[in-house]
Amino acid sequence: MKAALTGNQIRKSFIEFFKERGHTFVPSSSLVPGGDATLLFTNAGMVQFKDVFLGTDQRPYTRAVNSQKCMRVAGKHNDLDDVGRDDWHHTFFEMLGNWSFGDYYKKEAISWAWELLTEQWGIDRSKLWVTVFKDEKGEIPTDEEAAGIWREQPGLVKEQVLYFGRKDNFWEMAETGPCGPCSEIHIDRGPDFCDRKDDPQHVCQVNGSCQRYLEIWNNVFIQYNRLDENNLAPLAATHVDTGMGFERIVSVLQNTNSNYQTDLLKPLIDKVQGLTGMSDAEVFENYTAYRVIADHARAATFLIADGVVPGNMGRNYICRMIIRRAARFAGKIGLNEPFMAQIGAVVIDNYGEAYPELVKNKATILNNITREEERFQKTLDAGLVYLNELFAELENSNEKLLDGQKVFDLYATHGLPFELTRDIAREQGYQVDESGFKQAMETHRVASGAGKTFGLMGGDDVDVYRNAFEDLKEHKLLPDSGVNYNPYQTREIKSPVLGLFKDGIFVDQVFEGDAVEVLLPETNFYIESGGQVSDSGWIEADDQSWTIKVDDVRRPAAGMIVHLGRVEKGTVKAGQLSVAKVDLARRKAIMRNHTATHLLHAELRKVLGEHARQAGSLVAPDRLRFDFTHPEGLTPQELDLIEDGVNQKILMNYPLHKEEKKLSQAVEEGAMALFGEKYAEDVRTVQIFDDQNLLSYELCGGTHVDETADIGTFIITSEGSAAAGIRRIEAITGMQAYQVIRNRAKIVKQLSALLSAPPENIIEKVDGLRHELETEHKEIAKIKKEAAAAAFESQLSDVQDINGVMVFSKIVPDADNDVLRSLTDKFREKYETGVIVVASVIQGKPLIVAAASETAIQRGAHAGNLVRTLAQMVGGGGGGRPALAQAGGKDAEQLPAAMEKVPQLLDEMIK
Ligand SMILES: [Zn+2]
Ligand SMILES: [Zn+2]
Repeated sequence: MKAALTGNQIRKSFIEFFKERGHTFVPSSSLVPGGDATLLFTNAGMVQFKDVFLGTDQRPYTRAVNSQKCMRVAGKHNDLDDVGRDDWHHTFFEMLGNWSFGDYYKKEAISWAWELLTEQWGIDRSKLWVTVFKDEKGEIPTDEEAAGIWREQPGLVKEQVLYFGRKDNFWEMAETGPCGPCSEIHIDRGPDFCDRKDDPQHVCQVNGSCQRYLEIWNNVFIQYNRLDENNLAPLAATHVDTGMGFERIVSVLQNTNSNYQTDLLKPLIDKVQGLTGMSDAEVFENYTAYRVIADHARAATFLIADGVVPGNMGRNYICRMIIRRAARFAGKIGLNEPFMAQIGAVVIDNYGEAYPELVKNKATILNNITREEERFQKTLDAGLVYLNELFAELENSNEKLLDGQKVFDLYATHGLPFELTRDIAREQGYQVDESGFKQAMETHRVASGAGKTFGLMGGDDVDVYRNAFEDLKEHKLLPDSGVNYNPYQTREIKSPVLGLFKDGIFVDQVFEGDAVEVLLPETNFYIESGGQVSDSGWIEADDQSWTIKVDDVRRPAAGMIVHLGRVEKGTVKAGQLSVAKVDLARRKAIMRNHTATHLLHAELRKVLGEHARQAGSLVAPDRLRFDFTHPEGLTPQELDLIEDGVNQKILMNYPLHKEEKKLSQAVEEGAMALFGEKYAEDVRTVQIFDDQNLLSYELCGGTHVDETADIGTFIITSEGSAAAGIRRIEAITGMQAYQVIRNRAKIVKQLSALLSAPPENIIEKVDGLRHELETEHKEIAKIKKEAAAAAFESQLSDVQDINGVMVFSKIVPDADNDVLRSLTDKFREKYETGVIVVASVIQGKPLIVAAASETAIQRGAHAGNLVRTLAQMVGGGGGGRPALAQAGGKDAEQLPAAMEKVPQLLDEMIK
């Protein structure tokens, strides 16, 4: 073996080796899987390429190489129980892989793997064993192709190619979908490494589950698509997916007997040893604690870099749990003060080049770790006292199983995560009821309104804000009551930036272009409520070195208010002095609409009656929308009365009285409270008086103008139905109203020019024009009728003689009922013994009129019967007397065919 490479060199040489062979380096995806709600954490290199294999995603490359960050700490792949107890299991680990998406296949994959291991890394060829697939059920073909390629590799011992079945050597993504045989490479580290020598059941061989034969690399050859349990179809394109556990290959190449002795984790152990001052021998006596701390500190560092901070639920819970678990083990080796940030710093130094996100988020990572340790210390002692009481109870009742609900209470009240309680219980010889714990946690989640979206382990970013609030309170940066909120004055507020949140993490700085949430100790930005929308505005550096445009404001947790915006200029750091400015023009427009809403409400009740009560409201800068209970549409007169009434009150310039009062007092005084709204004991009231009377009195937390004339003008833009029994009025005020008036005046001016009439005569003029138009329409209709009659007359001789009865039938375009009837008169004037059938299509529907002369009737003709038969053919009905009848139908397309039947029908009637 060559001189040992460092872990970083090994990772780099793997990537370089495949880059030289045409692979694109694809950076590790986040530990938080994007777009996959079924997965708590990324747990394999495959995760970010899954959609490529499923054919739902395409990449600009067909060969890829990567080193993927993985976590296995919950769910199906859960190694946590083993972490710390042995030298090989981790919560966080890296997975190296090379990938072919329909490009190269077994030949290249196998010979490159062999070349990298034996030539590049110098592993002794005789120590390597490989396995290929042979189906124990004999249903899927044996992978002789791979076996043959292996036997051709230089220096490979041919007897060390072994066959294994489905469990070890067949890979499937799911019950259906891509799958295929795999081929593993194992290394024989020599008999000394066998850790199961004392086990009589143990057979020391490949896949014998001991530390002598280690699987170091799995090559998956995806060549089938599983259709169902019994059917595999070959894939048109075959793929290669390989995975090599990074910690394991490093321990092999560095020839250590523990992953914790590699240069990936040893520096962390050393750092902890430096803090405890223990001798090497003492370290090994307490090796579990050292391993847990090293593993968990590394995992927490990577988690926080990917935005997973300590919290109460989901991924955040995992981050909290591993920091607390490490802190408890630290207590066992005498580390009772926060120290883990120092271990995190070693992780960042060691891994920062391969994973730049660690360096970029260094301050955030270290702060979060330390704060979590501090929070845990505050609760740990009380938690342990309570836990010991529980153990005593079990002891007394001679039981061994700790109740799940009590384990949950320990977590909810004393911050002891389930996994810690389980650790401690095991140390004392007790078990914990895990399903009972999960049930209690789920019940609590649902009860607290956290929802079930992500199942038991769902994410919850409220924790971030709650934690930040706790810390700020503790450092006296925020009072217990939280951020001071006063939207009723709009002066600029100068204060330090207390906190910055980006993508749900508490961060120290944000850069130009970043979306950010800014926490200030005090704010006058209004937070959307009672229908009034949030304020927007700006937060700027006191020295104007940076600017954040604020678009929204929200209250993410009790006591916390954040301004949502984007950095327009510069770099913003927590602690810097800032000036917050509400967008005043916008705010004033909102205030005009809010006060106008109160006036509208009062006016509606005056005009329509006391039943007209608020049922919904929107107060925006450009309009107001007001829903109220009223059974029917408003008449134009009512709308005029209401609009006039509101404008009168505006012009009278009544002052507004805004006061805080006790709810009971306000209600007693007649304030309008909304149905279904919850009010605090102290409420804000808004009153408007005219010279003697109270016009409007509402409980309202919104912002209002000082005097009604500030509203400007009030115009109703629409009135309609919002729901059964609820009407909706939309209206505008201020500048919006002015613009509408101005635009309408412009239109009147243009109309006046077009019509050559002064504005006051426009209506008269348009009315005249409409009359003229109507007269002309009538004239045209008359002319059309005359033309049809004239055309008809010239065709009247076109008759058929059926047994001496003259028969005329025709479709007359553009003829209405009157025209058709007048045609039958003309016909009867001309023929003494005759039958006429005329038809037309009016607005898409056929109309048929028939008439028979007296003598024709004597011969058997019957207009009514004739029409009835014809009408049936065009999907209609009708009939009438023998002399004259008419009928309508639906199907105009059938009309010509029906009319052609006329001679035949008459032939049958006439004797
Ligand atoms: Zn063994
Ligand atoms: Zn209001």
